[in-house]
Amino acid sequence: MSAIDETHDPARTSWVTSANGHPDFPVQNLPFGVFSPPGGGPRAGAAIGDAILDLAATAPLLPKAAVQAAAGDTLNAWMALPSDERGALRRRLSDLLSDPAHEAAVRPALHVAEDCRMHLPATIGDYTDFYVGIHHATNVGRQFRPDNPLLPNYKYVPIGYHGRASSVRPSGEAVVRPNGQRKAPDADAPTFGPSRRLDYELEVGVWVGPGNALGQPSPIDRAAGHVAGFCLLNDWSARDLQAWEYQPLGPFLAKNFHTTISPWVVTAEALAPFRRAQPARPPGDPAPLPYLLGEEDQAHGALAIELEVQIRSAAMRERGIAPMSLSRGPATNMYWTVAQIVTHHASNGCNLRPGDLIGTGTISAPKPGGYGSLLEIGEGGRSPVTLPTGETRAFVEDGDEILLSATARAEGYVSIGFGPCRATIAPAP
Ligand code: MN
Repeated sequence: MSAIDETHDPARTSWVTSANGHPDFPVQNLPFGVFSPPGGGPRAGAAIGDAILDLAATAPLLPKAAVQAAAGDTLNAWMALPSDERGALRRRLSDLLSDPAHEAAVRPALHVAEDCRMHLPATIGDYTDFYVGIHHATNVGRQFRPDNPLLPNYKYVPIGYHGRASSVRPSGEAVVRPNGQRKAPDADAPTFGPSRRLDYELEVGVWVGPGNALGQPSPIDRAAGHVAGFCLLNDWSARDLQAWEYQPLGPFLAKNFHTTISPWVVTAEALAPFRRAQPARPPGDPAPLPYLLGEEDQAHGALAIELEVQIRSAAMRERGIAPMSLSRGPATNMYWTVAQIVTHHASNGCNLRPGDLIGTGTISAPKPGGYGSLLEIGEGGRSPVTLPTGETRAFVEDGDEILLSATARAEGYVSIGFGPCRATIAPAP
């Protein structure tokens, strides 16, 4: 697991003055992404305050192996680097951006972030979505099975399904409302048309780093070495399509029409100070099977990240009303750790590859105020949310914008953020 070093020093500041006190990108963060500056093509960069550092333009000053890996227009090769090589690049960038002696050499490689366009950070070979937010699983399960919300496998198996990599898009790209089959409980037959129960899901995304070979599982004590970094992930979900199609094979067209992610890869190295013990399981719960139980993982496998969801309707935007908060909660509300998810995924010999994307599943809190989807907040449509305009929302309407944000916090360290994960709903075709 990544160590705390001088790059996390809370006293360290940057000569890029917008980084000092920046809510997301102080010099302690240095997330990686792929961006296009005005008039230029996609390239790798690191976020620093309100600027983006072009890595290729800084190449002569950086470790050779690391900069070669980050030289193209995707970060797959950089993700494939072992943690110590990614760490060496991070330490060098931290030094270049904090020591004023380097300003003259580095400043020409900076771009104004606002003028740049962000892309997906990697070519995503495979995307898998888990279901480890136990309060989400319980809240949703209760709507269908009031007495027995969690199915019997939940506390033994990290539940997941294979999603669709082709429709993952960076923050800012509009989400087209899907058409699909839906059948009201009292209807005789389904109809085809625009989803009437479009929802979001608040999730953390995990970027796979070095992979494992087909047929070769990886033990839990090496799982952290397979994780390059993290993002925010909105697993857009058409609840009416989902309810009709998911029996017996699970999520399909209700989920694969669009997934929005925040484009910056917050590295495993940057998150070292925000590691926490995995919360103890409630008394009576089974212990994880031995292949999912790691001493180091139980001691440091959770992340102290605060998550928030906001909504802004078209009418709110027109009237200049700020986005309204829908929920807030900690990422520690995960029944399984990221290492357990990764270990379970590879436990049958399935090969994970650099640039694969894994969603945690919707992260909800046990109480209202921390629910990670409208399905939970609005109780399946029964108690809609009222917006500042007086509009109500049981589900997401055309023109609505949903914004996810996240901040990692720890006593004695500088907080770091993930940058925005936002998208607006466009009408069905
Ligand atoms: Mn999901």
